[in-house]
Amino acid sequence: MSSGDGWITCAAGHRHWGRFGAAGLLLMSDDQVILQHRAPWTHQGDTWGIPGGARDSHEDAITAALREAAEEAHLSAADIDPIGVYIDDHHGWSYTTVVAQATRTVRPYAANAESVAVRWHAVAEVADLRLHPGFASAWDRLQDVPPPLFLVVSQETADDPLLEQLRAAGIATDRLPAGMSGGGLTRLLPHVVYAGDLAASLAPAYADRGQVFLAEEPADLRLLA
Ligand SMILES: [Zn+2]
Repeated sequence: MSSGDGWITCAAGHRHWGRFGAAGLLLMSDDQVILQHRAPWTHQGDTWGIPGGARDSHEDAITAALREAAEEAHLSAADIDPIGVYIDDHHGWSYTTVVAQATRTVRPYAANAESVAVRWHAVAEVADLRLHPGFASAWDRLQDVPPPLFLVVSQETADDPLLEQLRAAGIATDRLPAGMSGGGLTRLLPHVVYAGDLAASLAPAYADRGQVFLAEEPADLRLLA
């Protein structure tokens, strides 16, 4: 039994699994996503959702989502490039969906008794499946995936403790400057590029891979926090 196992009642009066909240992984590749057919005996079972489960007391949501994805669907962190998270906050309980791109060919399978099947589905067909209610209510937002965020930092910025905080917890999408997009997500998980003295000249090179934020000075980082 893990520390997070147990039921809790949120501020809206629902019962939820996970004393410290829950988290799951939505892994995408081209126009497909990996979904898990949950075993009939699980809570709201015999439905399609994403691999996920209760967070442990010591775990952040991203760690929990990747652990559950490994346990339930045999997905490896090495194959996953996280873009951001969508937090469904019920006050007193929350579900964090980590949205990520597969970095190479991934062949998932049902790795424990909580799954009947785990497989790729075409995005266009997801809404026609019998979905887990929590996943169904988030699905519209989860499809609105912004380009990955590259945070290009100078040496001076790299030494600022705020950088590690933003790298680990992500950047709230309502803090993004005009012209940058958070899509339907709550926080973006930045790809930090340590560019030293070359930060300003290297930053434009990332524009064709995603969105770029150049932080030459620690003050630039503070705009995101
Ligand atoms: Zn609730």
